[in-house]
Amino acid sequence: MKVDCIIVGFGLAGMAFAKELEENGKSFVVYEDDSQTSSNVAGGVYNPVILKRFTPVWQGQEQLEIALPFYTEIENKLGGVYDYKFSTYRVFKSVEEQNNWFSASDKPLLAPYMDTNIVRKSYRGIVSENGFGRLFHTGRIDTKELLEDYKQYLECSESIRYESFDYDAVKVLSNGVKYKETEAAYVVFCEGYGMHKNPYFSNLPMNEAKGELLTIHAPELEVDFLIKAAVFVLPLGKGLFKVGATFNWKDKTLKATEEGRKELLDKLETFIKVPYTVVEHSAGIRPTVKDRRPLVGVHSKHSSLCVLNGLGTRGVMIAPKVAKELYLHLFEGASLDPESNINRFLKK
Ligand SMILES: Cc1cc2nc3c(=O)[nH]c(=O)nc-3n(C[C@H](O)[C@H](O)[C@H](O)COP(=O)(O)OP(=O)(O)OC[C@H]3O[C@@H](n4cnc5c(N)ncnc54)[C@H](O)[C@@H]3O)c2cc1C
Repeated sequence: MKVDCIIVGFGLAGMAFAKELEENGKSFVVYEDDSQTSSNVAGGVYNPVILKRFTPVWQGQEQLEIALPFYTEIENKLGGVYDYKFSTYRVFKSVEEQNNWFSASDKPLLAPYMDTNIVRKSYRGIVSENGFGRLFHTGRIDTKELLEDYKQYLECSESIRYESFDYDAVKVLSNGVKYKETEAAYVVFCEGYGMHKNPYFSNLPMNEAKGELLTIHAPELEVDFLIKAAVFVLPLGKGLFKVGATFNWKDKTLKATEEGRKELLDKLETFIKVPYTVVEHSAGIRPTVKDRRPLVGVHSKHSSLCVLNGLGTRGVMIAPKVAKELYLHLFEGASLDPESNINRFLKK
C-alpha cells in the first residue's frame, strides 16, 4: 500500500493532522494503541487568558481564530456536537486581584475577552467575597466524544489501525519511508508523552506533567459557566461538573491516585459549599515542553520523519494551528514558526 502519510497517535495532534490531510486530498493511515490518555481525559477548555496572572496566552487569539471554525467543521462533518460555549468566572481572592484584572482588561489582546465590570452577584453554594471577573468567548470541546466519533469515521475508510507503531520496523528510503507493507512520503509522530519511546525524537526536551481530574455530581450547584478558583469547576450539564486539575512532574503513570483525589477535593471545598458525589476520576500526562512551546518539525537527518507534539496544557487551541503549519511546510514548502520548530533545539 502507498499513502502520503502515516500518522502515529490519534490524540488531538494526530486528529488535527489527519483532518488537514483529508481536506487536501492526501491519503493516510493512523496507528493508535491507547497507551496515552491526555486528549481523552482533558477538560477540553479553551480560553486565551492565563487566569493566574491575567496575561494573554501565547498566540491565543491566532489559535482561536483557526480552532473555532476547525471544530465547527468537524461538527458538520461528523454530525456531532463537541463545542460547548460558556463564560468563565474567575473568583477574586482579594481587592488587589480586582485591580490587576482592571489593568489587564484595558490591554488590546485581552480587552475582547475580559468584562470590565466585576460580577457581584452571589451564587448559591459558591464562596466569593470579592466577586468574580468574567471572561467571554470561552468554552469546552468534548474531546473524548469527538475523538471517538472521528475514529469511527476513519474506521469506515479503513484508515485507522489499533496497534502499536513498531519503531524497529521503519525503513528510511531515499524518498520516503517503508513501514511493514506500507510506503509513505512521511511519518508524522503525534504520540504525546509516548514520544519518550521514539528513537528519532526522544531527545526533544519534554517536561511532561501528569494531571488528574474528577467528575462530580452536584445537583444544587446551578451554574452554567466555568468557575475558576483553586481548581476549575466545569459544567457538563445534568448536575455534572469536571473538577481539575493537578500538576505532578514526578509520577509518569496513568493511574488516578488517592493523593490526587484528596488534593482536588480539598481545593474544591475552599469555595464550593454544596453536597456532591464523585462519579469519575481520571488521569493523563500532558506533553509539556521545557520552553512551553510546541514541538513541530522534521528530523535533522531523515526528512521523511516528522513530529507534531508538545501541545502542553492547551492542546484544544494549539492543535489545529500547528497541524496546518506542519501540513503547509511538508506539502507546500512554507516555513515553520521558529518558536515551534524543533530545530530551535539543534546545537548551534
Ligand atoms: C488532566 C488534564 C487536563 C487537561 N485539560 C485541558 C484543557 O482543559 N484544555 C486543553 O486544551 N488541554 C488540556 N489538557 C492538555 C491536552 O490534553 C493535551 O495538550 C493534548 O491532549 C495533547 O494531545 P496529543 O495528541 O499531543 O497527545 P495525546 O493525547 O497523549 O495523544 C497521543 C496518542 O498517541 C498514541 N500513541 C503513543 N505512542 C504510540 C505508538 N507507539 N503507537 C500507536 N499509538 C501511540 C496514544 O495512545 C495517544 O492516543 C489536559 C491534560 C490533562 C492530562
